[in-house]
Amino acid sequence: MPCHEIEFGMFPLEEVEEDEEAGKHINGNQNTDPTRFSDGALRLRNPHISEMEQDILYHLALGSGSHDLQEMFSDVRFVCMGGTPKRMEQFAYYIMDEIGYKLPAGTTLLDISYQSYRYSMYKVGPVLCFSHGMGIPSVGILLHEVIKLMYHAKCRDPIFFRLGTCGGIGIEGGNLVISESAVDGLLQPYLELPVLGQMQRRPAVLDRQLAHDLKNLRRDDDPFTVTVGKTMCTYDFYEGQGRLDGAFCDYTEEDKLAFLRKIHTENVVNMEMESLCFAALCHHAGVRGAVVCVTLLNRLHGDQVSTPKEVLNKWQEYPQMLVARYIKKAMGLPVTVPQRSHPQVVKCPRQAQMVRQQSASFE
Ligand code: URA
Repeated sequence: MPCHEIEFGMFPLEEVEEDEEAGKHINGNQNTDPTRFSDGALRLRNPHISEMEQDILYHLALGSGSHDLQEMFSDVRFVCMGGTPKRMEQFAYYIMDEIGYKLPAGTTLLDISYQSYRYSMYKVGPVLCFSHGMGIPSVGILLHEVIKLMYHAKCRDPIFFRLGTCGGIGIEGGNLVISESAVDGLLQPYLELPVLGQMQRRPAVLDRQLAHDLKNLRRDDDPFTVTVGKTMCTYDFYEGQGRLDGAFCDYTEEDKLAFLRKIHTENVVNMEMESLCFAALCHHAGVRGAVVCVTLLNRLHGDQVSTPKEVLNKWQEYPQMLVARYIKKAMGLPVTVPQRSHPQVVKCPRQAQMVRQQSASFE
């Protein structure tokens, strides 16, 4: 289905109580929402950008002066990001089949940001897929530039998803966690960033309705459970997450387990390294965001990720399945079946081989 045929349906699921901070402010006809124009396009909380002659999105290898960003991206409605370029390329092909998006013959998906050597970016109709690298600094830089990209392209009401991996707290490997909110390693529900010598704090709030809608898309025959809970986002994989297997460790196994059990009683159900920044920047930009992670292990039972690679690869498809269902439902497509299986473009391999041989040049 070419992108101009795609229509966006409503998402008629039960409503969750509104987050008081996420409200939009419409006074009569005057739209005073600092994050939105009245047509749903993003308004930036930065007066400098509109005054600049051009805005170079350095880490994406794009620019508002060098590229027609509106022409390239204005139809984007869903922004999906995950750690690695390979995983996001796979997701791009997966979502292409799921929504039935057809590339013209002879064309292929291209990493639009390949010249940056930093992040990867694939566009499949209304879905933009990014790799965000590892940790808060990496995802933070990407989010600044993606939010600006949405602004330059005049995208309307885009929804952001992070599809990741995590350590479960009391949840075995191969299950999904949807973050209801994110906290740092001290259980503080905000992102702290020193700005001009002062600590700036931004609340790490995620869209509760979106989390709820995603959870409801689990089917009884899915091989995973879905838990909604708090995510602890740390600045480190090893000591920051209380592992015993880093290069350094100054605590005992009992200390570690006491900490994990304590945060579990505070409804922390998983640990990863990006959600705090993702939640804080989405919320500040007025963008609806969700974090869907698959657990690689239950941290109450160990630290090392020792599950075989093929199994891990399978598990990493689970967040993609749930997010794809959401996107399809929001687009008004049937959720249960892919819109397009791999097309049989070569009808008869033997004849195709003969045609190729005949047309090969022997000069
Ligand atoms: N990612 C993390 O940050 N921690 C884990 O334990 C697994 C994946």
